[in-house]
Amino acid sequence: GVRAAEGESVTDEHGPGRATAGFHEVYGTEPGGVWAAPGRVNLIGEHTDYNDGFVMPLALPHTCLAAATPRTDGVLRLHSGDAPGGIVELRVEELAPVAGGAGGDRGGWAAYPAGVVWALGEEGLLRGAAGGADLHFESTVPTGAGLSSSAALEVATATALSELYGLGLSPRRIAQLCQRAENVFVGVPCGIMDQMASACCTEGHALFLDARDLTQRQVPFDLAAEGLRLLVVDTRVKHELGDGAYANRRAACEAAAEAIGVPALRDVPFDGLDATLAQLERLGCDATTRRRVRHVVTEDRRVEKVIELLDAGDTRSIGPVLTAGHASCRDDFEISCAELDLVVESANAAGALGARMTGGGFGGSAIVLVAEGDAEAVGKAVTEAFGAAGYGAPRIFPAVPSAGARRL
Ligand code: ADP
Ligand code: MG
Repeated sequence: GVRAAEGESVTDEHGPGRATAGFHEVYGTEPGGVWAAPGRVNLIGEHTDYNDGFVMPLALPHTCLAAATPRTDGVLRLHSGDAPGGIVELRVEELAPVAGGAGGDRGGWAAYPAGVVWALGEEGLLRGAAGGADLHFESTVPTGAGLSSSAALEVATATALSELYGLGLSPRRIAQLCQRAENVFVGVPCGIMDQMASACCTEGHALFLDARDLTQRQVPFDLAAEGLRLLVVDTRVKHELGDGAYANRRAACEAAAEAIGVPALRDVPFDGLDATLAQLERLGCDATTRRRVRHVVTEDRRVEKVIELLDAGDTRSIGPVLTAGHASCRDDFEISCAELDLVVESANAAGALGARMTGGGFGGSAIVLVAEGDAEAVGKAVTEAFGAAGYGAPRIFPAVPSAGARRL
């Protein structure tokens, strides 16, 4: 979504009109409907989802819109107003993941929606690989900024097709299908958080999700009522080591869990952390891996703390927990970068209540919790710090907890 550069968001009022007009321009007909799926920020709980742990995302007002109509000839046509190259035309029965490889956007952007159709077929939901569809996308979710434009694209596709094909899939099932599409078809080994956030979030809430059994709770997160604002700071940088580092962190976590004989690091209780770290040392596990374990176990604890504070109506006090989470991402999990660290340092120095990187790391976005009256000054301080460091200006906008996927 290039248009999101201005921080604009697609609202229900003008959103469907634009997607409908775009669909008409591309295919010459009216769509059967328009569906929206949002991007997200993660409030707390980073790299915990693939450790069967806890996460707490909230949906952004920025959405990927899918205008769609079903076909009966097995042809899938895909077009995005945000990607060059015109219509991508595929045959549903020929969709297959590319074997092996390190993933990451294989086959271009169309692999994401095509992967969703493939995943539906894998589950026997396409009834003999017939079907097909025409889809046109318009998105305001910044791409590659750690705000989950890829999950928004997948979930918009799946939500549209579920209704067009009369499948009645639950948001949770949609999220699982979309994760499978991204893991297997696109080849990105992501956890379940992004898809669950886009499918299941609700307005005015953060989504507490247990990634092990996908139980969830909508936690009221009314920033305005408490005179607070959550800023998203998109650093506009994405460092290349990101992809390999993700797989590497994941492997380290899985190896550590196996060494101590638990299904996942989620099973290490916070008050057993020191004993577990000592055990890992005795087993010959290196210091780096032990720090990875410490991040995951303390991060799960921080999610629980944030929920306790929100339930107690003390939103301000989550600030230091967010900042502690950033330090853990930076020092123990080593997934931050100079730009993200500078957002956190400069925002806190200018009076923010707390700040942290959000999403996979190595660039992308940070979030900053701030009193409403300080928002402008803090944003300005971050922008000035970026200028002084010789970085390009970041993109800053408020994160308003918004609705998950829906028909418009
Ligand atoms: P993130 O999900 O954090 O934005 P990813 O690298 O996971 O970053 O996904 C970004 C990719 O998703 C883009 O490179 C593009 O292939 C695809 N994508 C996302 N939104 C759109 C869109 N509206 N149109 C076309 N492709 C999109
Ligand atoms: Mg993504």
